Amino acid sequence: MTMYWEREIETLPRPELEALQLSRLRQTVQQALRSPYYAALYRQLGLSLNAIGSLSDIGKLPLTTKQDLRDSFPYGLLAIGKSDVIRLHSSSGTTGNPTVVFHNQHDIDSWSSLMARSLYAAGVRPSDVFQNICGYGLFTGGLGFQYGAERLGCLTIPAGAGNSQRQIKLMRDFGTNAVHAIPSYLHRLAEVMAQEGFDPHKTTELRIFIVGAEPHSEEQRQRIEAAFGVKAYNSYGLSEMNGPGVAFECTRQNGLHVWEDAFLVEIIHPETLEPVAEGEIGELVMSTLDRQAMPLLRFRTGDLTRILPGTCPCGRTHRRLDRITGRSDDMFIVKGCNIFPMQIEGVLMK
Ligand code: AMP
Ligand code: ZN
Repeated sequence: MTMYWEREIETLPRPELEALQLSRLRQTVQQALRSPYYAALYRQLGLSLNAIGSLSDIGKLPLTTKQDLRDSFPYGLLAIGKSDVIRLHSSSGTTGNPTVVFHNQHDIDSWSSLMARSLYAAGVRPSDVFQNICGYGLFTGGLGFQYGAERLGCLTIPAGAGNSQRQIKLMRDFGTNAVHAIPSYLHRLAEVMAQEGFDPHKTTELRIFIVGAEPHSEEQRQRIEAAFGVKAYNSYGLSEMNGPGVAFECTRQNGLHVWEDAFLVEIIHPETLEPVAEGEIGELVMSTLDRQAMPLLRFRTGDLTRILPGTCPCGRTHRRLDRITGRSDDMFIVKGCNIFPMQIEGVLMK
């Protein structure tokens, strides 16, 4: 009945979840072959749906890069008729073509459900007032959170980015319970609150902050929690995989559940491109499992992370990603060891 706590799918035993992934992966390959880009590439490589008999067969498929998206701008990856597309989002490249992602009604519905599910996992409830402090428009954080919080049933305030005084007034006037914002902005918001004489600790309404869209550390999370008297949850996403709603922390705050019914996760070594050993840090590679307008297979996110071991006490069976520890283009090798700048920063900070 509820559209947000998808208990059955979120707690699916691993064998069933993997069976679902395999059937969706095969559907996705079939769908991707309707796009000019994948049709030509797979024909050239002699690949067809027959290549995928098990989940591990994904390794037989070529990786897709951001550059591939740019090169096939604007419609090369579109797998449906243009008249069925209802939305596009785009990330602004500073050079060359931007990357564009298209959605049909099914895609927007499934993205909204993933977002509602994510917010619910972080403790947001339909009775809450949700203030979305982030840019609307081509950036996915605006509409992504808006649709998800509406689907969950929240009174959703499309506050937009910036203008801290107005943000504080909205919080006061409507009794905001949950906020989504990027971590770097929250420092500024805390300062303005102090100037305005608004003590967030004294409002009992403010309860949950969703922070994401950019790298931040555990220390930063704790600072945000202390400054606002809230619990802060990490939200990870990227426009190529819809935007937010890819991986989200539950109330246990122990890593980000990646929604494996919608995304297939691989962690590869950024140079050898082979899968890393279980639990090791590498580059996150993702395939969409439930997207029709623009399916993407083995997309290289460029983000470095690892899959956390063990299961989460919340009961969700979808595996958890560690915080993003950097970008694969930043990695360097010293005496055979992979070193990531964020690791050094972490040590120095301590
Ligand atoms: P965009 O596609 O423009 O929305 O940017 C997506 C990128 O933002 C990801 O590939 C990550 O590099 C970064 N990002 C998003 N969410 C997080 C997060 N929670 N922690 C660290 N980096 C993030
Ligand atoms: Zn959990």
